[in-house]
Amino acid sequence: MKIRTLAVGNFAANCFILSGEENHALVIDPGDDPDQIERILRDNRLVVVAYLITHGHMDHISALAEMEQRIPAPVGIHPADAAWAFGGANQMPPWYGTPKRPGNLHRSFTDNQDWTDFGMHYRVLATPGHTPGGVCLYFPGAKVIFTGDTLFAGSVGRTDFPGGDEGALNQSLHRLAQLPDETVVFAGHGPQTTIGQEKKTNRFMRA
Ligand SMILES: [Zn+2]
Ligand SMILES: [Zn+2]
Repeated sequence: MKIRTLAVGNFAANCFILSGEENHALVIDPGDDPDQIERILRDNRLVVVAYLITHGHMDHISALAEMEQRIPAPVGIHPADAAWAFGGANQMPPWYGTPKRPGNLHRSFTDNQDWTDFGMHYRVLATPGHTPGGVCLYFPGAKVIFTGDTLFAGSVGRTDFPGGDEGALNQSLHRLAQLPDETVVFAGHGPQTTIGQEKKTNRFMRA
């Protein structure tokens, strides 16, 4: 599985394009810059089979409706974040505008759900705390996890936004700490790391 990382928008949110067999692709968190995302897909002749959303914050979903309109494919998101992600509550800062609702919200994520898309196998881990419906997308075969804003290299997601819950975040981090140390972490912002590295050096993961 090939992983392409693009930092999109004013918050430099990481959008990931994963590709497996026969150029089928998963797009994780199309947060902005739809032209750039579309160009990479077209230049590499990638066929989008799903859009996967780690959580509903606007810096991770602002190009979702536009992408889904240009290149239709099912969208996976946890219902606890879909409930507010496409409304006025998701508007900070105001100049970003309210993210539009895509037409095709066909995959309702639940905890421990397994999906396989053209050889790309992943498990949804519900990891609330940063948002109520935040998930991590774990690819056990490839030994990688996409953590959204739950876990960063050296840090963790804020819990002071609406719906944030510090106790829940700590439980979610505890759960991530059970994954194999060599698991490579692709976070929603900033560089990649590993579970083992974070257990050693990230004070939130040690607590
Ligand atoms: Zn966030
Ligand atoms: Zn973010």
